Amino acid sequence: MKLIQRLILGLLIVSAVPVAAQNPQQTKMKTFVDGLMKRMTLEEKIGQLNLPGAGDITTGQASSSDIAKKIEQGKVGGLFNIKSVAKIKEVQKLAVEKSRLKIPLLFGMDVIHGYETIFPIPLGISCVWDMKLVERSAQIAAGEASADGINWTFSPMVDISRDPRWGRISEGNGEDAYLGSEIAKAMVKGYQGNDLSKNNTIMACVKHYALYGAAEAGRDYGTTDMSRVRMYNEYLPPYKAAVDAGVGSVMASFNEIDGVPATANKWLLTDVLRKQWGFKGFLVTDYTGINEMVDHGIGDLQTVSARALMAGIDMDMVGEGILTTTQESLKEGKVTMAQIDAACRRILEAKYKLGLFEDPYRYCDENRAKTEIFTDANRKEARAIAAESFVLLKNGGNVLPLKKTGTIALIGPLADATENMTGTWSVAANFSKSVSVINGLREVVGGNAKILYAKGSNLDEDSLIEERGTMFGKSLRRDQRPASEILQEAINIANQSDVVVAVLGESAEMSGEASSRTNIEIPGIQKELLKALLKTGKPVVLVLFTGRPLALKWEQENVPAILNVWFGGSEAGYAVADVLFGDVNPSGKLSTTFPQNVGQVPIFYNHKNTGRPLPEGKWFQKFRSNYLDVSNDPLYPFGYGLSYTSFSYSDVKLSNTSFKAGEKLTASVTVTNTGNRTGKEVVQLYIRDLVGTSTRPVKELKGFQKIELNAGESKTVSFDVTANDLKYYNYDLKYVAEPGDFKIFIGGNSRDVKEADFKLR
Ligand code: BGC
Repeated sequence: MKLIQRLILGLLIVSAVPVAAQNPQQTKMKTFVDGLMKRMTLEEKIGQLNLPGAGDITTGQASSSDIAKKIEQGKVGGLFNIKSVAKIKEVQKLAVEKSRLKIPLLFGMDVIHGYETIFPIPLGISCVWDMKLVERSAQIAAGEASADGINWTFSPMVDISRDPRWGRISEGNGEDAYLGSEIAKAMVKGYQGNDLSKNNTIMACVKHYALYGAAEAGRDYGTTDMSRVRMYNEYLPPYKAAVDAGVGSVMASFNEIDGVPATANKWLLTDVLRKQWGFKGFLVTDYTGINEMVDHGIGDLQTVSARALMAGIDMDMVGEGILTTTQESLKEGKVTMAQIDAACRRILEAKYKLGLFEDPYRYCDENRAKTEIFTDANRKEARAIAAESFVLLKNGGNVLPLKKTGTIALIGPLADATENMTGTWSVAANFSKSVSVINGLREVVGGNAKILYAKGSNLDEDSLIEERGTMFGKSLRRDQRPASEILQEAINIANQSDVVVAVLGESAEMSGEASSRTNIEIPGIQKELLKALLKTGKPVVLVLFTGRPLALKWEQENVPAILNVWFGGSEAGYAVADVLFGDVNPSGKLSTTFPQNVGQVPIFYNHKNTGRPLPEGKWFQKFRSNYLDVSNDPLYPFGYGLSYTSFSYSDVKLSNTSFKAGEKLTASVTVTNTGNRTGKEVVQLYIRDLVGTSTRPVKELKGFQKIELNAGESKTVSFDVTANDLKYYNYDLKYVAEPGDFKIFIGGNSRDVKEADFKLR
């Protein structure tokens, strides 16, 4: 080695030491954890990796429960889904007073879209396209959860999904990696803030790592299989964005990848997550994720537990495979002490970062619990965010907004459905405190209009399907009368009214975990109701509840107005009224493509061109990539959503038509509010890489800005584009921007755009 090389190497080595030492907080944490771990037995270290559910603990009985004994023996690292300061305090007390080393517990919960104040389901929030609001929803959720003893949430869920059959599409942010990544960052920031040790921030957990949303045939827990190129470009970015934003923990997914379940997939958990992305937090399994690998068929409990640990898992949710088999595996050489130590260290570090060693009761302030949860202020913000998540799909003849006068017939199984308003995954909510559509409308119109109500139909003709869709205390109180009688009652009130508001669609549990559907239309009996209401000749507005994109071709063709309200959360009913009556002008834009029928699935805007694309605007052509029986068009494209006003876009202006790495280009359009009321518009920027060494999507979202314009007002919206925005993972998984021709598109959705050309030199 030449002298100069030696000198450089020497310098690098020397400088590597002080870098770590330069961060005094990390040094302090390391010293603390080192000291603690020196005193820990093997059993106690393994105990930290154990995360049982808290199912059997009720206040006052903590010390006699099974889990309590384990806590005292140092066999528990954390608990989850235990609610209330009183209970959490009682259990924490066991850990810090009765266990040998007094190590506090983590308290996790599925705080997915709010704690008690519930925001729209994540798919709904992803239609807001305003990252400040997204962040704020997570911040409020963290404030409430931490006021009730929780210090760790199993959110954000960032699984990209292009399959509306999959029930958990409701829990994610839709089909697009760019939008999904922006939301991932905003959510992590909202939960964790700048300082995890503050008592109103909680640790986030990005999930489900990875590719869970690409389950075959949309069937939950199904197999996923895709190329690395697709993973890196289209499915992994939101998880990585969460890691880049400093997420404290990651949850492994249930599905397999390349034939190895994610929970034991070393490539995924260690090579990509830790080595490529530099993730420093801890990795938890999903619920019994380790045990399920026995059924996946890769070994008995001891084998799969050892594989999970050696692949990079730090904490075992519920199954206790790691707790019960690791000592044996260590003896047999199937796991290493280094791996056990590394996992234990990461759990202790998480507790340290949360400030639990300093004060294990940091999140147990009875006073905060009384004053900071489900407050009027939080509910007000939830109401505003809910209204902003609604997507106006159609507004023929400007039926909407409605006037607060005359007689309104409010009809449908979801109109008086308080317990269903929060949608799926709202474990901390008190469902009965949500605002139903009927109550929201009544309160908002006051005495000015008369509201008549009838159920019109049950949720589904089949009572068994209705039962499956209304589990966990979300009953729609099935009407036992003959369907014809229930329907006739609705027709009668429709006939007495000026306008019909039909509140139809899915119930809360028709989407979410293990709620996949092969038929993604509005259930048949509700469609019959809708047809009968249209026959009355009254103007009909469809207020659609759903946790997934539905196939609404018939509705689009026949119903004058359709407002998609997802599940808006605890204030849903107020928000629906705000938008129906025009107090709020709708501005939500779809984060997933709506298909014409289920056979088009998967359908997404950023597909490839193929070698035999169909010319734009055409339908069937023999030997082209298309169908005999339906066009390639979506029913509603990605990014789509109407307003009570209208917007026009000027042509795209580019600052220059070519640039090279290190330079930038500015693309601008002038957007004008051409209607007669104030409205918000999401201005979206897409690019297309026309020639690559690998094929590139026909469009890719690369930026968006939500702006507000008064009637008649114009604003110029500009986007900077740099070579970084043009990068993608090529065949060799190198992240590159390839010189050549590009298109830029700007518009109010992914279909209706203005375009311009540029070159990367
Ligand atoms: C879900 C996770 C959730 C966990 C804990 C699992 O069934 O897949 O999303 O965080 O349960 O409740």
